[in-house]
Amino acid sequence: MKKENNRIKVKDLLVSENLGKEVHVKGWVRTKRGSRKIGFIALNDGSTIHNIQIVVDFPEFDEQTIKLITTGSCLGVKGTLMKSEGHGQNVEIHAGQIEVYGTADPDSYPLQKKGHTLEYLREIAHLRFRTNTFGAVFRVRHTMAYAIHKYFNDNGFYYLHTPIITGSDAEGAGEMFRVSVLDHLDPPKTSEGKVDYEKDFFGKETNLTVSGQLEAELGALALSEVYTFGPTFRAENSNTPRHLAEFWMIEPEMAFYDINDNMDLAEDFLKYIVRYALENSPDDLEFLNNMYDKELLERLKFVVEKEFVRADYTEAIEVLKKADAKFEFPVKWGSDLQAEHERYLVEKHYKRPVILTDYPKEIKAFYMKQNTDGKTIRAMDVLFPRLGEIIGGSQREEDYDKLKRRINELKIPEKELWWYLETRKFGTAPHSGFGLGFERMVQFVTGMSNIRDVIPFPRTPRNAEF
Ligand code: ATP
Ligand code: MN
Repeated sequence: MKKENNRIKVKDLLVSENLGKEVHVKGWVRTKRGSRKIGFIALNDGSTIHNIQIVVDFPEFDEQTIKLITTGSCLGVKGTLMKSEGHGQNVEIHAGQIEVYGTADPDSYPLQKKGHTLEYLREIAHLRFRTNTFGAVFRVRHTMAYAIHKYFNDNGFYYLHTPIITGSDAEGAGEMFRVSVLDHLDPPKTSEGKVDYEKDFFGKETNLTVSGQLEAELGALALSEVYTFGPTFRAENSNTPRHLAEFWMIEPEMAFYDINDNMDLAEDFLKYIVRYALENSPDDLEFLNNMYDKELLERLKFVVEKEFVRADYTEAIEVLKKADAKFEFPVKWGSDLQAEHERYLVEKHYKRPVILTDYPKEIKAFYMKQNTDGKTIRAMDVLFPRLGEIIGGSQREEDYDKLKRRINELKIPEKELWWYLETRKFGTAPHSGFGLGFERMVQFVTGMSNIRDVIPFPRTPRNAEF
């Protein structure tokens, strides 16, 4: 790859053995300190959490230029790479030439040397990338995205792009955002006085997708193993530290996998991502561990090493009923587990990640494979420490008649799902899949407690500023 102006990244300079050589580095000033004669600038270019120290012999430089070098300004520095006598670094650059690309007036630059709260940094999301914390988080996020594609590619899965605009609202995973070009103050009406979506862009009602699963299933029933990794949208008004209105979801779908194969894949996949992050982002994770969550690294290693517990929903309900804990939501066979219940199972009872299966059919989606007891379906949720549910999945119902009956029972408009049903009519196969919320996983690996701090520009109720 061609490198512009022989620029060397900080990450490479810090391990360089080219002592005495001329180097060219570019980045943003984190701090500047020193006396009247000599200055030390900590420069960062985002390639690593660490800064490179620039040593400046002030009398050799124009005073006006030196004044412009303040926290937040952007510089290009040419100089000699030297062994550093100071603490905390092996090498430093003795500046020969400094070019100031952009100044940052210290009186108005919103990032000061002192630490800022994560809440404050959310209000300046356009600049928060320049902090150690967000540099680390977004490098780790990248590393994890790469690991996910690598895992699936290495295991013979095809990356399938499912639509973001969907014409079906039958997925039932949550409230949707409507996509429409109609004049919302004066929309065309049908003779019954309803909005006439026939006249809308697609000639029907459309929304932003809540999941790529149904379309991924169509792919799996020909390509065998596929996965999606794309944006998903939920207009749910939940202001929690675990919910976004726009988030990224990874959804593998596999022909010929039963629920046990599905669990094996989920466990192996999650461990792979965590291991990959531990091996490839050690500096960033160590920083986050020391800064926010002293048990982070231990927790990550724990997940990689321990076999996940597998239990069914009914057993989990028995455990929760006997629990010596006060829950806000009641525990009763038939109701959905809340995060507090899930965390109790993982953190207090089993003391490991847990995969729960065989949930009551009433609390899960129509497409899950029905068990012979008539009450439960072959669902699986993976529960993690601190977060609760991180994956939701199931073996899918492959029987045409059973699937159709369930769709009718739930009064889901059958004609909207004609294409989905046809895959069960022509060459159906047992198959399974699951959905992993990418930000939940990034939360787990970085230890950040609020999901708004693991996506560059969070979309939450009443918040779409950047
Ligand atoms: P929850 O009960 O936590 O709201 P869910 O049951 O609605 O989750 P699914 O529909 O099964 O979740 O979605 C699959 C995965 O997507 C979840 O396991 C979770 O990791 C993630 N997820 C779901 N909703 C959100 C959201 N609003 N923001 C971020 N991630 C989400
Ligand atoms: Mn939800």
